[in-house]
Amino acid sequence: MRVTPTRWAWDRVTWSSHCGNCIANCAYRLYLDDGRVVYEEVSGDMPAYDGVPDMNPLGCQKGAAWQAQLDGGDRLHHPLRRVGERGSGEWERIGWDDAFNTIADAVIDAIEAEGPNSIMVDEGAEGGLLTSLAKGRFVNSLDAIALDSNATVSDIHLGQWMTFGTLLGGSSADDTFHSDVILIWNANPAFTRIPYFHYLPEARYRGAHVVLIAPDYSPSAMHCDQFVSVVPGSDAALGLAMAQVILDENLADLDFVRSQTDLPLLVKVGDGHFLRESDMQEGGRDDRFYAWAGGLRSRWTRPVSRVSDRTARSHSTSTEAARWISSTARVPRSRPPSPCYASASRAMHPRAPRRSAECTPTRSDRSRG
Ligand code: SF4
Repeated sequence: MRVTPTRWAWDRVTWSSHCGNCIANCAYRLYLDDGRVVYEEVSGDMPAYDGVPDMNPLGCQKGAAWQAQLDGGDRLHHPLRRVGERGSGEWERIGWDDAFNTIADAVIDAIEAEGPNSIMVDEGAEGGLLTSLAKGRFVNSLDAIALDSNATVSDIHLGQWMTFGTLLGGSSADDTFHSDVILIWNANPAFTRIPYFHYLPEARYRGAHVVLIAPDYSPSAMHCDQFVSVVPGSDAALGLAMAQVILDENLADLDFVRSQTDLPLLVKVGDGHFLRESDMQEGGRDDRFYAWAGGLRSRWTRPVSRVSDRTARSHSTSTEAARWISSTARVPRSRPPSPCYASASRAMHPRAPRRSAECTPTRSDRSRG
């Protein structure tokens, strides 16, 4: 590993970042000696915007040590084949031709025995976007199966997707500074969002209320106004209890949820499922939903039809399948867990869900602007 001895003797300077899937993709200057990275430093010249603390220096200590990993002794530079029992740690070094032939033989054997769908490719967590491209071409050309890497590393937010219709919400990280309430749920951003973490205390200094919901009192907790300790697995009860407080106390900004979430979609009373075109007509589509007419500024990628109040009522008297209610008045068959339920079942103080719910931006907060 050539790091310190040649650190000040580079022959080229270039730009790069680290893992293509990192949260920040911080801009780094790389100093190279004969093609090897000997030193790297944050660029420190991210643009600054009026009224927001600037992002500099955008980087983290893991990134600053990246070149040590690049040439580190633990990094594999050649293929290995297991020669001992699984888990024994016994490997032998083999050549690239040997490795490629072994893999190709196994792929051909699997296709001949059970077809291409018997091959599943999991790129793991470290590959990121860069390996996705190569993996995608390989898998598609075989008609094999690829796992979604975002899903396998728990990086896919299905709730966000299903509720808002987009995978990612929000603005750039510096917009955190403008928040009035910052709700951190099951995260430790002091460790995992290092380049952006400074916006949290800066927003708090500006007056933001910061809540952390997590099982452990992490290093992020000391920077928050409120820490809610949840038993792992109890998050749904807490979330429903908070939802009940928000609805019972009329805290929700209904105009916002009508226009930005799936709440205006119509729901069948009989089974609680969304009303689909296939419920309404022979051969109707399963991915076409209905919402109350008026007031809907749809962000949905799938088609959403609108039915008038009058149409809805006429159908509601005709068949059970067409009886529905607007989701804005969507009443679950059983009441959502109350704060007392959440606390009794999950060793949480009954005031915790209420305090968390009541600090969310309310209708009156919004009107105060
Ligand atoms: S957050 Fe750290 S690891 Fe990620 S790009 Fe920035 S410096 Fe590199």
